Amino acid sequence: MRPSCFQRSVSVVCMLMTLLVCAHSAAAAESFAKKPAKYVFLFIGDGMGLPQKQATEAFTGRQLVLDSFPVHGITTTPAANRFIVDSAAAATAMSTGQLTDVGMIGMAPDKTKVKTIAEMAREKGMKVGIVSSVSIDHATPAAFYAHEESRNLYHYIDHALASSGFDYFAGGGIKDPAGKRKGVEPRGNAMDAIKNAGYKVVTDRDEFLKLNRKDGKVFAYNSWLQDSGALPYAMDSRPGKDITLAEFTAKGIDLLDNSKGFFMMVEGGKIDWACHANDAKAAIMDTVAFDEAVAEAVRFYKKHPDETLIVVTGDHECGGMTLGFAGTAYESDFDVLKKQYVSFQYFADDVLKLFKKEHQGSLAFNDLKPTITHYFGLQFAGDHADPMYVQPHELAQLQDAFVKSVAGDSMKLNDPVSVNLYGGYDPLIVTITHLLNNKAGLAWTSFSHTAVPVGTTAVGRGADLFGGSYHQTAIAKKIMTAMGVKPHVYVAAN
Ligand SMILES: [Zn+2]
Repeated sequence: MRPSCFQRSVSVVCMLMTLLVCAHSAAAAESFAKKPAKYVFLFIGDGMGLPQKQATEAFTGRQLVLDSFPVHGITTTPAANRFIVDSAAAATAMSTGQLTDVGMIGMAPDKTKVKTIAEMAREKGMKVGIVSSVSIDHATPAAFYAHEESRNLYHYIDHALASSGFDYFAGGGIKDPAGKRKGVEPRGNAMDAIKNAGYKVVTDRDEFLKLNRKDGKVFAYNSWLQDSGALPYAMDSRPGKDITLAEFTAKGIDLLDNSKGFFMMVEGGKIDWACHANDAKAAIMDTVAFDEAVAEAVRFYKKHPDETLIVVTGDHECGGMTLGFAGTAYESDFDVLKKQYVSFQYFADDVLKLFKKEHQGSLAFNDLKPTITHYFGLQFAGDHADPMYVQPHELAQLQDAFVKSVAGDSMKLNDPVSVNLYGGYDPLIVTITHLLNNKAGLAWTSFSHTAVPVGTTAVGRGADLFGGSYHQTAIAKKIMTAMGVKPHVYVAAN
């Protein structure tokens, strides 16, 4: 069948559109090659989807700095081999532009090592900083300096950090300096290798605050690593004692600022961990801490608006958080969350464990009620109309979870009921945060990631490239364009 006049004109319009887009991107590439973004920030909120951002804004009553940017994009996240991505494949997509399989770090599915934007920046003579609130060898930061087929090969990743030549690593610690984990052949102590490579290793807060450009390459991590080598949850952080993500970011800007520019990746890694555990307050407060780190970059951007690019995104949503719950219908009450004073992790490690030890042999839920009221604000007596009052059906859920917690039932991952209800976490703590979150009008569908698209925002030189809808691999390519690097996949040297 011959094409109609209408079809012909549609295809001509399409061709013209394609030519226009190509001409536009070629012109953009040329313009950035002449005048690239000199200072490039990529902020990754791990597990930070649109619900996490909206919950934080509803709780704090103000817009996040990262959402005040002029350019907004929608970013899809599927991996090469799975619809729902993990942090390794997501970070590899964003660091290299390469779509890959879950678990892989800086590699294509066929195990080809792919060069990262951080490595490209270094080759251009820019300084490079990698900052994270979780261990600095965790999947997201690792995907900017390491190339391994599994994110779990921490020992090799730690050695890759030592030989990266990057200028600033900061936030959490390293997980396997000695090579003690399964599946690795020890290659010598990685912390020694880091020091031998010329890094000044700093954990003391006062010493950290005094660091200056004369100190050379730096690896700084907080003295208290709460879980798996990570910074404490922002809500558990001890003011004046722990170094915040914003302070690590501000110090990075100080140390990296130079005439050839810099690239800095900053990850808010525990938004994700809080969402895995379905603890909305911990996720919200870590999103606030992440936003405060973004604000440090904005302060720098204001001094160099024509040369600075700031991109903020999430690597995937986590927990299937949603803003609305069957039990509260159209109502929301975010003030409920103000009564929670510690994260689920702090409650598990520092409160519940102690309670179980002290009450060994005569563990009764009634004895724990005042502690739950103290840390989470849930009321077991008084006004039944108080939003914090634990209704009879909620009390039954808590008592049931308490029995399972005492029996250690969280470990029963082969029991589908237990998996759906508690996701492998302590049954009592998950039930407490679920009840509290539900009272706020928040709910969860998963203890894992979801494939819900995330939001990407940008400001500064090259920000316009980040409007529209695209897969997260495009983030790396857009940053390459803005940095004046040819946006295609490079094979890494080592
Ligand atoms: Zn995760």
